[in-house]
Amino acid sequence: MSESRDIKRVDLFVIGGGINGCGIARDAAGRGLSVTLAEMDDLASATSSSSTKLFHGGLRYLEYFEFRLVREALIEREVLLRAMPHISWPMRFVLPYHPSMRFESETPTSKLLTTVMPWMKGRRPAWLIRLGLFMYDHLGGRKILPGTSTVALRGTPEGAPLQDRFETAYEYSDCWVQDSRLVVLNARDAEARGATILTRTKVTHARRDGDIWQIETEDTVTGDRRTHHARMLVNAGGPWVGDIIHDKIDLPSREGVRLVRGSHIVTRRLYDHDKCYFFQGTDGRIIFAIPYEQDFTLIGTTDSEHTDPSRRPECSPEERDYLIAFANRYFKQAISADDVVWSYSGVRPLYDDGASSATAATRDYTLKVDASGGAPVLNIFGGKITTYRRLAESALEKIGEHLTVGKGPWTAGVPLAGGDFPVDGAQALIEGLERDYPFLGPDWALRLVRTYGTEARRFLGSATTAADLGRDFGATLTEAETIWLMRREYARTAEDVVWRRTKLGLRLSEEEIAALDGWMTSRREGAAAAE
Ligand SMILES: Cc1cc2nc3c(=O)[nH]c(=O)nc-3n(C[C@H](O)[C@H](O)[C@H](O)COP(=O)(O)OP(=O)(O)OC[C@H]3O[C@@H](n4cnc5c(N)ncnc54)[C@H](O)[C@@H]3O)c2cc1C
Repeated sequence: MSESRDIKRVDLFVIGGGINGCGIARDAAGRGLSVTLAEMDDLASATSSSSTKLFHGGLRYLEYFEFRLVREALIEREVLLRAMPHISWPMRFVLPYHPSMRFESETPTSKLLTTVMPWMKGRRPAWLIRLGLFMYDHLGGRKILPGTSTVALRGTPEGAPLQDRFETAYEYSDCWVQDSRLVVLNARDAEARGATILTRTKVTHARRDGDIWQIETEDTVTGDRRTHHARMLVNAGGPWVGDIIHDKIDLPSREGVRLVRGSHIVTRRLYDHDKCYFFQGTDGRIIFAIPYEQDFTLIGTTDSEHTDPSRRPECSPEERDYLIAFANRYFKQAISADDVVWSYSGVRPLYDDGASSATAATRDYTLKVDASGGAPVLNIFGGKITTYRRLAESALEKIGEHLTVGKGPWTAGVPLAGGDFPVDGAQALIEGLERDYPFLGPDWALRLVRTYGTEARRFLGSATTAADLGRDFGATLTEAETIWLMRREYARTAEDVVWRRTKLGLRLSEEEIAALDGWMTSRREGAAAAE
């Protein structure tokens, strides 16, 4: 084992390169703090690449009276949309209504309704959905997104793929976001403002030495060990937050995390329009069916208890079948396991509020500082992708009680890399790329704008043919793009490129992905030899 090397002291050391760690690192670096972030795998390799990928208020949380969270998230949708109009965009959600729809029996709303209207027997009445949507439209800051409307389903594109028993639907707005790209762009912005971002770097132990933290890290590729020094520690370990508290920093904390797995399945495109469906189940749960990567449909999610963070979450056959049966209660054309082309699964690191079911556990975030033994540590529990920027602001407020923070909140309205164009400007950007690089064609240009925004031109450079972009790895992935991802976006392996920086894994064969990996390995080795 190599000897540990000492690194100079920073203000803040962040454990975890998911959305919360990267969001806090960016905010803190922008306020003048010196920051180091360590991620044990790839950025967004855990929960932050496995979400449903919605910037949403969370319509169903209204039934749990989570008004603070819903309001904050609703306001935040448009703040984020403006700052990243390349990787996020508005979507319409179609909620078909049928009188048999039921509540999850544990929600405060269903309990209240069972008391005052016992004859409803757990059914979710139409007026309640309309009330929820009215609140959703008016609780917070909606300027860009259109409000709720009622849709007659017969003879419409929205009704076409649905079973005939559905005659009416409500349609409302939320937004889509490319979750893993959001994380990488936050990490890049943090680095551009002076932070050090270390990937494949695991925190193995941290201990207090008076008012300083000594943090031991191990490079998971080379085994290289280092000792970092920081005035404050942030534990943004997501599903590992408890593991870090108890095993890495030995805190006597009693705060708990509740791990709730959520799985998604992906099928070939199931219908011909660009709206999403919000389906209510007979068990009171809800799932979404969402147009995905042009040619696919994303269906999810589930809520299953997950006990061990080190067990890699996978969509179980039971979860897959549950999602298929759920969707088949709505779609005319039944789907089966044979239609599933990919699945993924993630673990929600929820704050353990003692709720009875996984579905009922709060999705709000909780920040806890422990300064009892000297240097302070901030532990992050819960949170949504949608509220990551507000969570970072709250974290900075707590950090400000222990360190001198140069300025106040600044991230609202500051675009992420490639997002420096108007909120409705993506189409113009796509047309501009098609005009200046005619060899791309519409689908390729769309993919590049939705991945890199204005930055796509930086690696397209002066290319006049596809061949000018170097080796073609398949599905429009070129050498020029891969080099950009390796140099600028911390990509190391083919998996980083095809499942997190892009979703080209849906289109590339196993052989093509292996060839890409081989090429990336030799390029890395060539670069190391040249150093
Ligand atoms: C199925 C599902 C659907 C969801 N859908 C949505 C949605 O549509 N919209 C929404 O807003 N939110 C959604 N969420 C919630 C959202 O995805 C999470 O709240 C968020 O991604 C959590 O981010 P995080 O940074 O806390 O955790 P993570 O992304 O898990 O990051 C934690 C990181 O810490 C690293 N780490 C752990 N231990 C160490 C160590 N010792 N050293 C170094 N690194 C370490 C891990 O490798 C990991 O990358 C969903 C979640 C799930 C599971």
